[in-house]
Amino acid sequence: MKRFANFIGGKACEPASGAWLKVFDPARAEPWAEVAAGDARDVDDAVNAALAAFPAWAALRNSERSRHLENLARALEARIEDFAHAEARNGGKPYALAREVEVPRAVSNLRFFAHAATQFASESHHGEAGLNYTLRQPLGVVGTISPWNLPLYLFTWKIAPALAAGNTVVAKPSEVTPATAAKFAELAHEAGLPPGVLNVVHGGGVEAGEAIVQHDAVRAVSFTGSTAVGRRIAGIAGPLLKKVSLELGGKNPTLVFADSDWRDHLDLIARSTFQNSGQICLCGSRILVERSIFSEFRDALVERALALRPGDPMDPDANLGPLVSQAHFDKVTGAIERARDEGGKVLCGDHRLDRPGWFVAPTLIEGLGPDCATNTEEIFGPVATLQAFDNDDEALALANAGDYGLAASVWTRDLARAHRLGAELRAGIVWINTWLKRDLRTPFGGTGHSGMGREGGLEAMRFFTEPRNVCIAI
Ligand code: NAP
Repeated sequence: MKRFANFIGGKACEPASGAWLKVFDPARAEPWAEVAAGDARDVDDAVNAALAAFPAWAALRNSERSRHLENLARALEARIEDFAHAEARNGGKPYALAREVEVPRAVSNLRFFAHAATQFASESHHGEAGLNYTLRQPLGVVGTISPWNLPLYLFTWKIAPALAAGNTVVAKPSEVTPATAAKFAELAHEAGLPPGVLNVVHGGGVEAGEAIVQHDAVRAVSFTGSTAVGRRIAGIAGPLLKKVSLELGGKNPTLVFADSDWRDHLDLIARSTFQNSGQICLCGSRILVERSIFSEFRDALVERALALRPGDPMDPDANLGPLVSQAHFDKVTGAIERARDEGGKVLCGDHRLDRPGWFVAPTLIEGLGPDCATNTEEIFGPVATLQAFDNDDEALALANAGDYGLAASVWTRDLARAHRLGAELRAGIVWINTWLKRDLRTPFGGTGHSGMGREGGLEAMRFFTEPRNVCIAI
């Protein structure tokens, strides 16, 4: 059986525990590989390797670090199919989605931060109290912890700015989907990244992840994952006065107004609900529809949901994969059962598919108010609710209900309404008549239970550097 080892100091390493965890193929619900069960001992080795590599890496000219990142982008680009295949097998997502969207976006992350390394500049202030300039220096060794839903994309989203800013990294991917991070560590070594600059420790969240957060020499932690784990990490990092960036869960509203070209956008709205089987933090899971078009829209969306073709990730005709794990399957099917108990009417879906693997049919539910658990707790599966509204204020109140504030999409032709909602929706990103479009220069993150801090563009470069004010008397 294939084994994914830790990658520390430029070498594949067995875990200190000697233990390996099973890695499953979600489309078959069968193990297909094993991953190192790393723990604090492996994290310590990785941190030592990163500490040793730090001075030389930080001392490189920006243009040299940029060249390394560009080499990584090129190396990954040359192997897109291979990585997309691993991503599809490991995460259960359709190969086409990995091939056309997720792995190319990982390449873009690397390339974007290759450019950022040379374009990042710091400020100077004068005219008030001497001449002040700001140095932005790398922090040292930083930790990155990423989830299973976009394994390579989110892995590169974090390591690329950390490396561009001159830090060395200890990265922990999810034990559920270790394949592409493991392959990437080897690829980086082959592409000439110096040993110890990027280290990957696999293993359980508590055993390996928490050891990174707790390690004295890790100066900052960039985390993407659930709100519960984010809260736990904040609890550990707080007393240690450690810098953290927390990108957490969401319960995103999709606001559909009667004046919108919703028929033309229906494919995209369906994708915004069900892409990657709803396992994207940015998917809309509360669909709010103006009452005058509610029935027509609902029936059309149900029709789209029923037309989705679940199937093996490698089947080119399939456009919906399974959920990632047995545990997640149980969580999502439990949430659908709870929606029924809460009085929801299930319009379509609500069943596991009659085939191997953790497949759940796309599920739409109506008849539930904003305060029930179905509409307030993240489900993170192919499950969404529909609610009707009568006017803009009601739409806004429904959209802003709950504790999360990650993303929202608004479908309207009314420009004034679009701008007003853009300003008043409680979300880190608001899309108007689109979804999942990303300009990597923009700040990315959530508010409330969706997180703390922003990543992306200059925000990420700022997170991974320490600003120092130098004041000169003149
Ligand atoms: P998760 O359970 O919180 O895990 C995320 C990562 O943290 C994994 O690598 C996990 O390791 C690790 N981890 C678990 N417990 C830990 C601990 N006590 N200390 C340190 N690390 C720990 O989240 P998930 O289920 O993988 O991912 C789904 C969640 O991520 C959803 O809530 C989704 O909304 C959120 N998400 C947010 C964004 C965003 O940008 N805001 C993007 C994508 C996903 P193991 O997996 O090995 O346990």
